[in-house]
Amino acid sequence: MPLLLSCCYNSPMTYDLIIIGGGPAGSAAAVYAARKRLKTLFITSEWGGQSVVSEKIYNWIGTNSLSGNELAENLKKHVLANTGESLEVSEGERVSNVTKNNSEFLIKTESKKEFNTKTILIASGSSRRKLTAKNADIFEHKGLTYCASCDGPLFADMDVAVIGGGNAGFETAAQLLAYCKSVTLFNRSDVFRADQITVEKVLKNPKIKAIKNAQILEITGDIFVNGLIYKDISGEPKELKVVGIFAEVGQIPNTDFIKGLVPLDEINRVKIDARNQKTEIPGIWAAGDCTDVLYHQNNIAAGDAVRAVEDIYLTIHTK
Ligand SMILES: Cc1cc2nc3c(=O)[nH]c(=O)nc-3n(C[C@H](O)[C@H](O)[C@H](O)COP(=O)(O)OP(=O)(O)OC[C@H]3O[C@@H](n4cnc5c(N)ncnc54)[C@H](O)[C@@H]3O)c2cc1C
Repeated sequence: MPLLLSCCYNSPMTYDLIIIGGGPAGSAAAVYAARKRLKTLFITSEWGGQSVVSEKIYNWIGTNSLSGNELAENLKKHVLANTGESLEVSEGERVSNVTKNNSEFLIKTESKKEFNTKTILIASGSSRRKLTAKNADIFEHKGLTYCASCDGPLFADMDVAVIGGGNAGFETAAQLLAYCKSVTLFNRSDVFRADQITVEKVLKNPKIKAIKNAQILEITGDIFVNGLIYKDISGEPKELKVVGIFAEVGQIPNTDFIKGLVPLDEINRVKIDARNQKTEIPGIWAAGDCTDVLYHQNNIAAGDAVRAVEDIYLTIHTK
């Protein structure tokens, strides 16, 4: 029977480890921590992390393909199957603040719960970066969207644009190509960041056009989007008529709650030692998309978190 935390808030006990975040990183860490019998609390606002919005994920090792929702469901089931004496789960809870208290840490949540712990694993991932073009704020949810699987079908048989040439941008384009009239993909540099296999597959579709070295200047429309203005390598502003714009322009790390305590890089990712996931603060580790490692993927996040738990276990047991 899974042990969900419901009765023991504000208890003075000290956990060995508190894991913050229920994406691939936090979930992998929870399973490993439970099996190592670390007294662990797992806190997450939601299950599954960023790729829950994906229609299909093809590179989660051990599975040919699965939807983002299935990934979230599998992670949740796996974590809950490991709850018991060593692992407790607090879901639907958001950490708002972490402070150091002598050799321990005090974690506070938005709903005013407090927990003490010897060590912390930050696995809070990242969230969507917003498009900064003129009028982008005005047209959000009025034709400008950040989620193809949520809003894409509204644009069936219409002309749409995708902003961003990373994996998320190409994945979005692939979804839209199934039912939109045309997809124009804008990439800000000369090189796409998405995996080559995905780029090749998507660009084979006759309904797609890719524009490189493009900067989006303005979103146009009246009540709803009717186009965008961009600048390409020619330097001249140009207009494209589209009714839907899907922005996939990167991620912002979810690290506000540890600002001032844990050193972050210039874009607010947690600085870690990639050999062991240690931050510069003894007792705090971080893994996955909230960290300053070069590559961010589901399998990488899970693997990094496992490395962190190995190191946390060793640190606790060699003190
Ligand atoms: C649209 C899209 C498609 C993608 N497709 C793929 C793909 O096909 N294959 C692939 O390998 N990767 C893909 N990625 C990248 C992949 O999703 C990330 O690398 C991965 O999710 C990172 O995992 P994580 O556990 O570090 O963080 P996240 O997945 O971001 O999870 C963070 C978790 O922490 C929780 N959280 C955040 N802040 C707090 C807080 N303060 N308190 C409590 N909980 C908190 C969140 O609710 C969330 O559950 C995709 C990303 C996107 C955006």
